[in-house]
Amino acid sequence: MTSNVSYHCIEREPKNIRIMDTTLRDGEQNPLCTMYPSEKLKIAKILEEMRVDVIETGFAASHGDDEVMREIAHRTKGPYLCGLARAVKEDIDKTFEAYRDYDRKMVHIFVPTSKVQVDAKMKKSEDELIEMAASAVRYARKYFPVVEFTAEDSVRSEFGLLEKIYGVVLNEGARVINVADTVGCASPKEFGELVYKVNKFVKGIKKDVQVSVHCHNDLGMATANTLSAIENGAEQVECTICGIGERSGNCAIEQIVAWSLYKEEFGTNIDSSKLYEAAKLVERATKFRNNMAPIVGESAFSHKSGIHQHGVINNRNAYEVIDPALFGRKSEIIIGPHSGYHGLVQKAEELGYKIDKEQAAYVIDCISGLVRNEIKKNFSDRDIIGFIKRIVRRALSPL
Ligand SMILES: [Zn+2]
Repeated sequence: MTSNVSYHCIEREPKNIRIMDTTLRDGEQNPLCTMYPSEKLKIAKILEEMRVDVIETGFAASHGDDEVMREIAHRTKGPYLCGLARAVKEDIDKTFEAYRDYDRKMVHIFVPTSKVQVDAKMKKSEDELIEMAASAVRYARKYFPVVEFTAEDSVRSEFGLLEKIYGVVLNEGARVINVADTVGCASPKEFGELVYKVNKFVKGIKKDVQVSVHCHNDLGMATANTLSAIENGAEQVECTICGIGERSGNCAIEQIVAWSLYKEEFGTNIDSSKLYEAAKLVERATKFRNNMAPIVGESAFSHKSGIHQHGVINNRNAYEVIDPALFGRKSEIIIGPHSGYHGLVQKAEELGYKIDKEQAAYVIDCISGLVRNEIKKNFSDRDIIGFIKRIVRRALSPL
């Protein structure tokens, strides 16, 4: 079997960071995020519509992943499709078979390089690991236009071993070199310094090879570390929708896209208006839901306290740094016991009612009373309309 696709690197604008989405691979590896094949097909479709550059659609060693990978390849046109593979022919062959008729195919080969992981999983010498990586990349390059190589647990690996293993896979034709904070234990400063060193080393051997990063969130640093990597030369970042992934998850794609739009220091090819819809799809498939998640969480652009409501009504920038419309969302006034009359008057207007300051105070009194007496604590638009109608009845009733 031979790939008839001529060699080329993945296209991107110079200032654009390439996004590899791994929701369907690393995301699904979260214990709570198993997905049905039909759900994966829907997620792959929206990732394509979002203009994700690379979709990692599965792991050859996982039972049944190759069938979904094949089906996604049949239905996809734009992005690169990538499959994760151990450094063994069996996984590389399985990935190739799944993508056989798809031109923009990519394989992502990994070998652990930290002492703790090598001792726990491989029991191989340094030379054996290097040979494994080299022969797997050499073999994969016959069939795939783009081969990515990851030194798993790069952060806890000796830099000398990283140099040796990255050096040999570069010579064998790897096009993307991935630096992984596999267990999410680096600080942004440490990770930035490592990416800077790796990038310098890689570019010293092959200028057109790109450095990628893959960050986990075990200590809450996945997005910060990914941004630090971008500042230090990374050109591809690996993310998931809603940050789902092994253990505490991965870097969230929506957070990286939001930073790119807010800071304008780098760009992406992503259509941000699809991010909320994609997050809802992932939520429905996995039952994972974080209401406070940046950008896609239910409370992300909502304001409940009186002072904040007054501020955003006068000038949204007072408490919102980025326009929610960029993500297919809108600002919301949520009424609760801490709301003020400005917020309530505005909310009533949105619901089609005109009320004055005194009437607003009456509604807030009702709400506060219900919360104080532990009867009710969340108030929907329907509840608010009910209170307003009660005011109307009160206004009409005889004194
Ligand atoms: Zn991972």
